[in-house]
Amino acid sequence: MLLEAVRACKTFRARRGGRSVDAVIDASLQVRPGEFVAIVGESGSGKSTLARMLLGLVPVTSGSVEFDGVALASMDRQRWNGYRRHVQAVLQDPAGSLNPRKTVATAVGEVVRLHRIAEGRDAVRRAVCDALDLVGMTPPEAYLGRYPHELSGGQRQRVLIARAIVLEPTIIVADEAVSALDASVKAGVLRLMDDLRRRLGVGYVFITHDLPVVNKVAEHVYVMKSGEIVEHGDKDQIFDAPRHPYTMTLLAAAPTLATGRPG
Ligand code: ADP
Ligand code: MG
Repeated sequence: MLLEAVRACKTFRARRGGRSVDAVIDASLQVRPGEFVAIVGESGSGKSTLARMLLGLVPVTSGSVEFDGVALASMDRQRWNGYRRHVQAVLQDPAGSLNPRKTVATAVGEVVRLHRIAEGRDAVRRAVCDALDLVGMTPPEAYLGRYPHELSGGQRQRVLIARAIVLEPTIIVADEAVSALDASVKAGVLRLMDDLRRRLGVGYVFITHDLPVVNKVAEHVYVMKSGEIVEHGDKDQIFDAPRHPYTMTLLAAAPTLATGRPG
């Protein structure tokens, strides 16, 4: 199962008097289950727009986004439902992604019901607890009744991951999912994501401006600049032998990398 952008473009139409924006230009990208793909680039380079295109939240202006060889735009309801389950989002700003008035049990439980992963109170509760367990929120019973404001930033991020993982997705699209977290919390969530990849075989499209994070976890890296993918390659190639001047500039601007790497 493959998630793919094929020469995908997104132009945001101008409002009256404004200029239209080519947010994503001719982007081609592939991600397989179990693969850790990163998209990097400075703010405004089109990363979030591409993420939302991959999630089917923003329709392409031209080109296509395809899952399992079928363009999103041409999917029948059954395929669309399958895609919506297999490709999950973990977006930035966990405070905003979780409804402040819903407990953890409700937030995770409602997607279980929606996608008919389990039916009946006990079965839903069991699925929710299993997912919380998987993301390291143990014992799960201690978190079921909590509201988002009763959780730390890292815990909220784990709930969002639980809500995705409970659907047994093939690919998770994570947009700046750890960027707002403190270093140690960030490291923990990254370890969790990598752990889930090995245990469940889930793949990631991991979007960030944070290069040290990419260096740690990514296998394949796409570099975006002004809406275009200017370079992509295996992580080691991107970090050790970048080809595009923009990639070199990005790497040079990440001082922790230069100092943290031997030789
Ligand atoms: P990034 O995530 O890399 O910071 P974005 O995808 O958010 O980049 O934005 C890329 C470009 O598209 C920016 O110029 C942004 O202003 C523009 N853009 C994003 N979303 C919209 C929108 N809904 N309407 C108009 N322009 C948008
Ligand atoms: Mg963004």
